[in-house]
Amino acid sequence: MPDLGATILHADLDAFYASVEQLLDPALRGRPVAVGGGPGGGVVLAASYEAKAFGVQGGMAGWQAVRLCPRLTFVRGRFGEYQRLADAVMAVLADVTPVVERISIDEAFLDVSGAVHLFGPPDVIGALIRRRVRAEIGLPISVGAARTKHLAKIASQVAKPDGLVVVPPGSERQFLDPLPVELIWGVGPVNRRRLAERGIHTIGELARTPSSAVERILGQAVGHKLSAMAHDEDLRRVETAHRARSVGAQSALGRRSAEPAEVRAVLAHLADRVSRRLRAKDRAGRTVTVRVRFTGMRSVTRSHTLAQPVATTLTLTEVAERLVWSAIGDAPAPCEITLLAVSVSNLTAQPVIQPELDLPPPDPWRPGSATGAARRAVDGSMDAIRTRFGADAVGYLPAVMGRGTAVPDEFRELAEHEL
Ligand SMILES: [Mg+2]
Repeated sequence: MPDLGATILHADLDAFYASVEQLLDPALRGRPVAVGGGPGGGVVLAASYEAKAFGVQGGMAGWQAVRLCPRLTFVRGRFGEYQRLADAVMAVLADVTPVVERISIDEAFLDVSGAVHLFGPPDVIGALIRRRVRAEIGLPISVGAARTKHLAKIASQVAKPDGLVVVPPGSERQFLDPLPVELIWGVGPVNRRRLAERGIHTIGELARTPSSAVERILGQAVGHKLSAMAHDEDLRRVETAHRARSVGAQSALGRRSAEPAEVRAVLAHLADRVSRRLRAKDRAGRTVTVRVRFTGMRSVTRSHTLAQPVATTLTLTEVAERLVWSAIGDAPAPCEITLLAVSVSNLTAQPVIQPELDLPPPDPWRPGSATGAARRAVDGSMDAIRTRFGADAVGYLPAVMGRGTAVPDEFRELAEHEL
């Protein structure tokens, strides 16, 4: 069988945070629920399908949401529960194939080409995943299957809520052409409006527009990328953690101007997640990369390569912070940030660290310095406590402060993972 068919799957839990709340509290089932925010203010992070029917969406102000849907119930999010249940879902996916690439808390790509002989064709595997996640965890999950990642993700969005859409090879054009352009990964309201002004509403219309024209409308980089996506040109493989050459995390922020305390809190949270994953695998990396996305999808990437590999939360936070401010400093004012991402590459096995003499000037970023050693000791204690009592048991201060009454940034995971 030379062509195994639509073997890339994108599995995405439906209205994840809200679905978890409804799972844990039966009184919320069948009712419009908003996670985060309140009638007086704050931002809604996620809405149940019952609330979406009234037009309530993530990212909306609470007062606005309650005006659309007066019966809306607001609940505070429980990130620990979301993490626990999403991890259980990922374990179901890993039962089907080891080739799973988790791209955010509640969604993942799978390459099932090695699993079709065990479980059957991709549509059967998609149905199996959906059945098991519903039966064993109690959550609705949508699955899209296609020959490329890009298309599998579009298919899962079309499948929502609680559905399965397979795009058989050969039918891609037919499937894509009538769909609205905003289903393409990365097309937000601004680009959608710009395309609409030129009469481009569907993916088919975008595909029929020469790439050079699209680049004139949206800028070269974005235009080129979206043109390729409209033609379903996407050679990316499903990257498992095993194959991964970098470890990264990102947080969408809604729109906000860059406040130092907030930037630091988000970076501390991201650095903590990345470095914890590195330490869990006994790995460390030398190159730290940040991506800052501004309004209008414009992104700036900055990296710094350290003399020695690190996996230390505080050091990674500080390097990332410096890079982010350098990126912001070069941006034309006023600047609003919509996303921050941190990744570490140039990975090696965590080397045995030789203590160094602390010669002036002290360099806390060197793992062998006295400060570097102290930082690793703190990380070691935190990892041990978390292993025993759970991820939320302890945290670095800026990351901990992000929880509390304000909008927790960890709820703002995005459905993309490129850096
Ligand atoms: Mg989802």
